Amino acid sequence: MTSSTLRMRPRRAAVFSLHTSPLEQPGTGDAGGMNVYVAQTAKRLAALGTEVEIFTRATSSDIPPIAELAPGVLVRNVVAGPFEGLDKNDLPSQLCAFAAGALRVEARHEPGYYDIVHSHYWLSGQVGWLARERWGVPLVHTAHTLAKVKNANLAEGDSPEPRGRVLGEEQVVAEADMLVANTEFEAADLIERYGADPDAVATIPPGVDLELFTPGGRAAARAALDLPPDAVVLAFVGRIQPLKAPDVLLRATAELLARRPEIRDRLVVLVVGGPSGSGLERPRALQELAVQLGITDVVRFLQPRSGAALRDVYRAADVVAVPSYNESFGLVALEAQACGTPVVAAAVGGLPVAVDDGVSGLLVDGHGAGQWADALGSMLEPGLRARLAANTTAHAARFSWQRTTEALLDAYAQAKMSFHAQLRIREVTA
Ligand code: UDP
Repeated sequence: MTSSTLRMRPRRAAVFSLHTSPLEQPGTGDAGGMNVYVAQTAKRLAALGTEVEIFTRATSSDIPPIAELAPGVLVRNVVAGPFEGLDKNDLPSQLCAFAAGALRVEARHEPGYYDIVHSHYWLSGQVGWLARERWGVPLVHTAHTLAKVKNANLAEGDSPEPRGRVLGEEQVVAEADMLVANTEFEAADLIERYGADPDAVATIPPGVDLELFTPGGRAAARAALDLPPDAVVLAFVGRIQPLKAPDVLLRATAELLARRPEIRDRLVVLVVGGPSGSGLERPRALQELAVQLGITDVVRFLQPRSGAALRDVYRAADVVAVPSYNESFGLVALEAQACGTPVVAAAVGGLPVAVDDGVSGLLVDGHGAGQWADALGSMLEPGLRARLAANTTAHAARFSWQRTTEALLDAYAQAKMSFHAQLRIREVTA
């Protein structure tokens, strides 16, 4: 963080996270890495002196309009449409209602109450764009996922993202003062596929909670999960939907067992998470696949969990698999490595950044059961696994939420400068 960043540090940021609240448990429905990102960076922004108010859509009549997430961080639950029964695809119809709610909150305060807007995902970006115009403050936007990239990497049977989302994203890219990309790959997508101005794109890798996700305690973790100490444990952690490809892990498991039947008694595959996205259309599809593949004796489905319970899963596993068809970054990969567990990941999106191929894990180019059985099988050899495991924590330690947050403050300062430069141009040309 530079000294000019410190001088220009915003007093109070309005963070828009319209479609999912940082108070929800990630790993099911619409709650995932973005929720973790928003909560972790908000806490640290507040600790560095920028108060944060996170605006999200109220999804229950039980929750109060305002909740404190951490010192200096408020969550504002804005009423926009019915509490329940709206799916993410219905939310474009509620953008006006949400924007009206946010504008009403701001209007109760003195002008300039929020001095920056940071929107997450394109739906929030649309509202952020309006807030920028109305409040006269810069807009910083993080896409988290991009429709054009997602559509180029669809899982079999998944429908493409609608044209309306693509248009909405293009507008936000054009209007935001700064765009935050997780990796250089995402930055290139924003520039090449969406026409973003390269000077308006900051590449800021996300982080990992290095205090929570620490190595060690494998025996205790296995005991907590009721796993035998000598089990061979593979794990998948995340929202259960075709895009995340947990089916690839199950198919590879069946293949592995066909090749090495002697490990059957010791093999356990943990699948942690709940249905999400297009996975909600067939919430039992993965259980049905396990039956079809004849591997129900080795697969265990676990409910989404947080904190120490999730850490136990990472610590208990010999290998964590991240077989996604697309992943803008892949926090799960970092969290597993921070716990000392190597990762086998698909070579897509940001995963080549999250996993150091051949050093802290392996990348697989494709989603075939045979390829994945090869990679997972090679990780069951103690030599390779131990060599990779030895490098996992050092790789994970290159990422931290503190670093992410400090870089965000730099991006906020840059957004402010570009916003004011634009205002001056407008004044001169008016
Ligand atoms: N997660 C969790 N509990 C679960 C499963 C997942 O808290 O049972 C969290 C996980 O720790 C990670 C996030 O959900 O921080 C998933 O982020 P990732 O980037 O891997 O995937 P995304 O959900 O963004 O697609």
